[in-house]
Amino acid sequence: MTQTAARTDWKTIEEWNRKYIVRTFSSQDEYQWIPVESTEGDYLIMPDGTRLLDFFNQLYCVNIGQRNEYVTERIKEALDRYGFVWDLYSTDYKATVAKMLVEDILGPYEWAAKVRFTSTGSEAVEVASIIARLYTGKPLIASREHGYHGESAGAAALNHVYPGRSHLSDGARPDFVRGVPGQLHNNTFACPAPLCYRCSIGHSYPGCKSVGDQLPCVLATERMILNQGVDQVAAIITEPACGAGTIVPPDEYLPQIYEMKNRLGILWIVDEVLMGFGRLGTWFGHQKYGKQLKPDLMTIAKGLTSSQIPAGGVVVSEHVAEFMDSVRWNHVSTFSGHPIAMAAAQANLEYMIDNDIPEMGRAAGEYFGAGLRELEAKHKTVGFVAGAGMFWQVELVKDKVTREPFIPADRYTAFGGDNSDFPVRTILGKCLEKGVLLGGFVPNTLRIGASLTVSREDMDKGLDALDYALDYLDTTV
Ligand code: PMP
Repeated sequence: MTQTAARTDWKTIEEWNRKYIVRTFSSQDEYQWIPVESTEGDYLIMPDGTRLLDFFNQLYCVNIGQRNEYVTERIKEALDRYGFVWDLYSTDYKATVAKMLVEDILGPYEWAAKVRFTSTGSEAVEVASIIARLYTGKPLIASREHGYHGESAGAAALNHVYPGRSHLSDGARPDFVRGVPGQLHNNTFACPAPLCYRCSIGHSYPGCKSVGDQLPCVLATERMILNQGVDQVAAIITEPACGAGTIVPPDEYLPQIYEMKNRLGILWIVDEVLMGFGRLGTWFGHQKYGKQLKPDLMTIAKGLTSSQIPAGGVVVSEHVAEFMDSVRWNHVSTFSGHPIAMAAAQANLEYMIDNDIPEMGRAAGEYFGAGLRELEAKHKTVGFVAGAGMFWQVELVKDKVTREPFIPADRYTAFGGDNSDFPVRTILGKCLEKGVLLGGFVPNTLRIGASLTVSREDMDKGLDALDYALDYLDTTV
């Protein structure tokens, strides 16, 4: 029997939405409802037919665009075969995705051995941390300022986007901020981030480099690890570029972290949840910084399925796999390797390989980045632009020379009180007038990136909207 579910009218949906959904990022009063009828490529389509160009790619995760036909058809086929079987059982999808990741995609880099699948990015970080601690028998994981690794307790302990750890703030009370009581940075510590535009240890890039071209932030990271004792530190976790914190590091940074972690004999967890699968124009973000960089553990999610079905995972290196193979690991997650998610991942990876999507992202980034740099030259409120592929950091300033930010607390803003003066809000509002959705978490920084398959026409549309919004922001200083 074929039956289509009856559709409820949008007015009722709005009511139910307001009444029954627990809000995030806004109070009930502040909430603005944006109904989405369907999605297509780089667009969200509203019930009245309005098409919004999504230049933050729904949290930078729909890497090959919405409802790619190849992927959609493979998911439908999988639904004709499977409901659900748990991780104890084998499916061709799960084994194939693991093989594709380890051999077809990462094979030439000669480090990856096995994969443990998860359902989300947070869970991937959680599991990578568990493995790192079990393998080394050591408790601590070094993280960085402005790093974001997820919302579950272990992942959130590694977070240093201030105060992005499920804290509360209040529009009526500027000084009110409540972190989750009892949620600590358990067994982690924060090292300096490679935020050269606003260096937290007071240096100025590139003049900051010391003997052997070493960056002071890497030197400080090493000292902080030594201060804890390498006998206590299991690993350092880094994003290749900070996604939520929105920082694209200088080219030397990751290779120097890699050299340091090898010298100290600790593990490197590279969190590729956001930058993986082509975001920076390479299969994985860290590869942009050198073929010699070999993670010990690598977390993935988002782009693994282009987010058409939730899935994530941890790719482990040969030495870690060898250890895990030698023991029994009493660990379970109901949805690990869910057959429908794995079917989506297989189809997505096949499509990415066949069409060399990372290269497509790299080329798109060259075109888009050139457009952003023109806007940087034209607008007095654009202080700095950095990025690659389809991930771009744009710093908004009152004064280019002094780098005076609009919101002095910058990345340490608690988001209390009225946030309507955040320049990011102004730009997002103005771009929306032109039908373009943009992203940004911290008040002075735009975070921009469409799908890796975005058309030139849509890149031009995004740049035009940004130009229009920046024209307005320029008039405010
Ligand atoms: N790590 C990084 C680098 C991320 O960007 C995110 C999500 N934005 C996560 C982990 C958490 O992933 P998820 O939201 O799927 O739990």
